[in-house]
Amino acid sequence: MSNINELKQYAKLNNIPIMQDEGIDFLTSFIVKKQIKNILEIGTAIGYSAIMMANLNKDIHVTTIEKDEVRYMEALKNIKKFNLEDRITLIFNDALNVKLDSDFDLIFIDAAKGKNKDFFEHFEGNLSPYGYIITDNMHFHGYVLMNEDEITSKNILGIVRKIKDYTYFLENHMLYKTTIYDVGDGVAVTERRG
Ligand code: SAH
Ligand code: MG
Repeated sequence: MSNINELKQYAKLNNIPIMQDEGIDFLTSFIVKKQIKNILEIGTAIGYSAIMMANLNKDIHVTTIEKDEVRYMEALKNIKKFNLEDRITLIFNDALNVKLDSDFDLIFIDAAKGKNKDFFEHFEGNLSPYGYIITDNMHFHGYVLMNEDEITSKNILGIVRKIKDYTYFLENHMLYKTTIYDVGDGVAVTERRG
């Protein structure tokens, strides 16, 4: 058995953007409250959030996708350390190249911030009838809430605009309704209408 603080420390030292404490608290409470069992995560990094979710109870299964080989290897190691090999399925690939057959009660999107809409559309067919899609980093380190004139980096501005497009897409979707919570780096919770 390993210590979750070691993972947090590793992430900090290596600049790996794992979920903030407030965000992970929100996510894990949500999973418990809604009795979610089957989870798909886009963006494993080193396995921190997958381990936090799978550790909640033994009925939970997490399928998680990571495209970076170094992070994937680290995640594999961490999942073994926590003895969670049977509750976490780790896939090494670009999520947009992965086709899955199963349905999930929760799809958690936490990967490339400019591609949220692509991930959403790629996997919405895998959402169970009463399932939820949760997207992290809706505020993108606060940049989304800033006046665009104050953002000097073109790169950051590009991502900010994509997150704004994604927000508009979610909020005006005919089939889903979305609430964006002001916790952590901004967390969107989407569910089917009616
Ligand atoms: N959920 C993790 C943090 C993920 S950080 C946690 O809180 O512990 C985002 C990760 O998404 C990065 O490791 C990045 O390599 C990965 N990623 C980005 N685009 C991806 C894609 N298209 N497919 C799979 N993984 C992707
Ligand atoms: Mg994130």
